[in-house]
Amino acid sequence: MAIYNLGSINADNVYRVPHLVGPGETLAATGFSQGLGGKGANMSVAAARAAARVFHIGAVGPDGAWASERLLEYGVDTRHIARVDEPTGHANICVDEAGENDIVVFAGANRAITDAMIGAALAEASPGDSFVTQNETSGQAYGAETARKLGVRVIYAAAPFDAAAVNTVMEHLDLLVLNAVEAAQLSAQTGSDIGDLPVSDVIVTMGSRGCKWLSRGAEPCLFPALDVTAVDTTGAGDTFTGYLIAGLDRGMPMAQAIDLATRAAALMVTRVGTADVIPDLKEIQDMRL
Ligand code: ATP
Repeated sequence: MAIYNLGSINADNVYRVPHLVGPGETLAATGFSQGLGGKGANMSVAAARAAARVFHIGAVGPDGAWASERLLEYGVDTRHIARVDEPTGHANICVDEAGENDIVVFAGANRAITDAMIGAALAEASPGDSFVTQNETSGQAYGAETARKLGVRVIYAAAPFDAAAVNTVMEHLDLLVLNAVEAAQLSAQTGSDIGDLPVSDVIVTMGSRGCKWLSRGAEPCLFPALDVTAVDTTGAGDTFTGYLIAGLDRGMPMAQAIDLATRAAALMVTRVGTADVIPDLKEIQDMRL
C-alpha cells in the first residue's frame, strides 16, 4: 500500500541568541543552523523511516530544491512536489540561553498547492492506500474529499489548530489525530466531547502521559508513554503520527500501530532536532525499553 501526504515543507532557520529580541532591537546571533522542517515533511520522513512507501504532495519555491532532495534522501517519493513561484515555506526560530523560543512562520509555497496538483497525485492512489494531511498547506478539504471517494483511508492531524479547517475536513475523516491542547480547543469550538465527534477513530496525544484512543462504540483506551529522559520534544507528535500511519498502512491493528508510534516518539524526544533525527525502524526495534 502507499501513503499520500499532503503536507508542508519548511526550512527551519534556528538562531541561538543571548535573549529573545525586544521591539526595535537588533541582536547578534551566537549560532545558526538550517534544517528540514514543517509538520508535513516531518511526517513523511517518519513514515518513510518506518519503511512505508510515501508520496509527498507539496510545493517549494525556486529556493527549495535542497528540501526536496533531502526528502528523497530520507526515502520519500518527491514526484508530486511542485516548484512554484513563491518562496519556500520557512520558520525563523530564535532560541535563548534558557531554551525559550519565539518563532515566525511563513507558509509561502505551502499555500500555493492547488487542487489540480492534489488531484493529479491522488489519481495514482488505489483503494486501501492512505491520505494524510495537516493544517500548514492549502487544499486539505479537496484532498480529503477526493481521497475518500477513491476508497483511500483519510487521516488528519489537526495541527496547528484551525477551527475552520477542521470543519471542512471532518466529514471525510477515518482517523483524527490531535494533541491535548488541540482536543480542548476542538471541544470548546464544537461544544461537545471529543468522543462524540463524527469520526470513527480519534487519537489524542498527551506528551509524557502517552495517548488515548477513542473508537466509536468502544471504551477509551489509554497507551502510556515510555519512560525516557526527554531532551527535545519538537517533532514528537509528527513522528508519532508518521509511524502510526505507516503501521496502519502495513495492516497493523490500531493498538499495534499505536504501540509502534509510541516507541518511535519516545526515541525521538531523546534527540535534539526535527526531520533530520527521526529514528528508523531498526533503531526502534533495537530499543531496550
Ligand atoms: P510536537 O508539537 O512537539 O510535535 P505534540 O504536542 O503534537 O508534539 P505530544 O502529545 O507532545 O505531541 O507527543 C506525541 C507523543 O510523543 C506522545 O503521545 C508520546 O507517546 C510521545 N512523547 C511526547 N513527550 C514524551 C516524553 N516526554 N516521554 C516519552 N514520550 C513522549
